[in-house]
Amino acid sequence: MEIIHVSAECYPVAKAGGLGDVVGALPKYQTKLGHVAKVVMPMYRTKFLYDNDWELVHEGGAWLGGTWFKYAVIKEKTNKLGFDLYLVDVNGLLDREKIYGYDDDTERFLSFQIAVVSWLNEWGHMPDVVHVHDYHAGLIPFFMKYAYGFENLRSVTTVLTIHNAQYQGWMGWNKRHLLPAFDDWKSGMLDWADMINPLASGVKCADKVTTVSPSYMEELRFAANGLESLFEYERGKCVGILNGIDNEVWNPAKDPLLHTKYSAKTVVKGKKANKEALAAQYNLDPKKPLFVFIGRLVGEKAAEILPGSIDQSMTMHEQRLNFMMLGSGETRVEAALQSLVDKYPGNYACYIGYNEQLAHQLYAAADFLLMPSRVEPCGLNQMYALRYGTVPMVRNTGGLRDTVIDIGAPNFEGFGLVFNEATAWDLNESINRAMGWYYEKPDILQAARKKMMAIDHSWESSAGAYLNLYAQ
Ligand code: ADP
Repeated sequence: MEIIHVSAECYPVAKAGGLGDVVGALPKYQTKLGHVAKVVMPMYRTKFLYDNDWELVHEGGAWLGGTWFKYAVIKEKTNKLGFDLYLVDVNGLLDREKIYGYDDDTERFLSFQIAVVSWLNEWGHMPDVVHVHDYHAGLIPFFMKYAYGFENLRSVTTVLTIHNAQYQGWMGWNKRHLLPAFDDWKSGMLDWADMINPLASGVKCADKVTTVSPSYMEELRFAANGLESLFEYERGKCVGILNGIDNEVWNPAKDPLLHTKYSAKTVVKGKKANKEALAAQYNLDPKKPLFVFIGRLVGEKAAEILPGSIDQSMTMHEQRLNFMMLGSGETRVEAALQSLVDKYPGNYACYIGYNEQLAHQLYAAADFLLMPSRVEPCGLNQMYALRYGTVPMVRNTGGLRDTVIDIGAPNFEGFGLVFNEATAWDLNESINRAMGWYYEKPDILQAARKKMMAIDHSWESSAGAYLNLYAQ
């Protein structure tokens, strides 16, 4: 089978979160299973672009409203990612340093989607499946089915994967002229609540819709940022497939970004060495347990409860613990987290920004990973934590519910800490439990580490589930 993934992110080319990890890994595993998987994404000005060699495979032009724009498609020459990687260059719109966050993001991702369909339409050979990811590619199923000029693509199967339904790419109908001409009778397939809604359109038009965990699929029928009734109505074609992780990139025994590599056998010594190296660099105390948070500092992740919760735990446990935060997002949360550095010197550190290497080092050095998320479609952090022998402390939601079993479950088959509310109170209760293990029951903690490192969340089985879905 030939599958073309269309996405705004793909690790290691450009990544802002879990979407990048998934699109960087899933095609690799589909290729390993004997299929042809390709990735098409925008050409941003990233390090990966300048460090690699490219060949030009197509040049074309298309209308974006009244503006004719030219685009080029380039392909990475050596297949170094394990699949064919194509970048779409739209001069002046896509070739920026950041992936998102510009005032003209609507026009940027529209030009990307229009360029992709016009290129595929002219390509000559048809893929079996066009698999689009999130709202940045959500209009493609509509264009393929109902826009004029892309007739060659009418019969190609489309799949939409929703990595995060909070972001839907809404635009007013006054932007309609930016879309390629389409059958007017079908405008309802673009509309949700009197707006053009690319994510809703993808749900309506794609042949199959997936989300990144079974629990999140269920939750969307009750909380989907306005699309609840749509998910209820379209249930028949929706399915939740749990993300995997790339075991080659995330492997503590081979990870070149760590201070000290380790396996399940050497986990105690290995984590200790990594904690000592991190503590020396960031002024932490290696003898105390280390709690970390890695992620976007936004409401979805309940990041705003962290400063208060840390403050309370420091007082309650008389600084017998360390915290380190890595992330960026809302300014007031960034400032609140930053302000704790002076308050708790020697026990608290904070890195505001994005730092891939530090993320790896934190998974290795930490004893506990905090994930109080309000919404977590799948969540990869907890799976990386498991692989690195770090105890995940998670709220009972979405993919976290599907991947973490509380240690207190009958017969102690669990290995993490699960709590119910995204509040400082519940998080602190969990930290209290974690402290109890660390200082009073270290043997349970060590047994849990071995157990969690043996869990297999690799992509093999999930990649197979997608192939079954395409076959349907
Ligand atoms: P989401 O996609 O909602 O942000 P996920 O848990 O699915 O959350 O994926 C988050 C990914 O982004 C993980 O690989 C995590 O390590 C990484 N990440 C998030 N924030 C940062 C950061 N500030 N620096 C480095 N890596 C980060």
